[in-house]
Order: sequence, then C-alpha cells, then structure tokens
Amino acid sequence: MSTDCLFCRIVEGSVPSTVVHETDSVLAFRDIDPQADTHVLVIPKEHFPDAAAMAAADPKLAGEVLAAAGEVAKIDGVDASGYRLVFNTGADANQTVFHAHCHVLGGRNLQWPPG
Ligand code: AMP
Ligand code: ZN
Repeated sequence: MSTDCLFCRIVEGSVPSTVVHETDSVLAFRDIDPQADTHVLVIPKEHFPDAAAMAAADPKLAGEVLAAAGEVAKIDGVDASGYRLVFNTGADANQTVFHAHCHVLGGRNLQWPPG
C-alpha cells in the first residue's frame, strides 16, 4: 500500500469506485473518464508502478490481471465483439497513474494505430 497512490486508495476503499469484478488479488472498476462504452481498469491490489514491474515480481499475479480482464469483457458483453487491453507505461505512453493497470476498452470499433 502506497498512501499517496490513488489506486491503492481505491483498493482500500477510501476513494470510491464502481467495481465490476473482484478477486482476492485483483480489482476491476470503471474508468472515471471512459473512452469507450466499456472502459474498465483492472489492477493488482498490491502496488507495482507499472505492468512490467508487476510481471517481473509476480508473474502469477500478472496472469490473474489478464484473466480478470477477460472476465470483465464477458461481464460487459464485449468478449464476442472484441476489445483492447492497454498497459500505458511511462511518459511516451502518457501513463498518469503509477500503479499497474490494464485498460479494458470495447463496445466500439477501435482504431489502429492508436494516437
Ligand atoms: P493511464 O493514463 O494509463 O495512467 O490511466 C489512468 C486512468 O485512470 C485514466 O484513464 C483515468 O481516467 C483513470 N482515473 C483517474 N482517476 C480515476 C478514479 N478516481 N476512478 C477511476 N478511474 C480513474
Ligand atoms: Zn498503488
């Protein structure tokens, strides 16, 4: 737990969120500024600064985040139509919250390449 981390505060419940799915190790909640009909963030409850750090420290947990992203896609009914998983990492990717998180985006045709 990092006291100055927004997503750690969401995990502890002191910042509210709209939870979509939860396991012992992972929390999924709706993005506050959705960029598609489905825009959910899947995070490990434990604090890691980014996805690579999480995967290096705990590969099983990284797999649990991906499995939860698949569950979110099913819950929102975009598993058949398709969706995108994004881990913004660092300045060039415009990462703004330095607690590892997987964006689950779906419900519209997503352009490629991304902006
Ligand atoms: P990133 O830019 O990849 O670091 O993504 C951070 C995401 O967190 C952005 O899409 C924000 O809209 C989202 N966000 C910021 N504050 C909150 C919050 N309190 N609840 C839910 N999502 C948030
Ligand atoms: Zn954190």
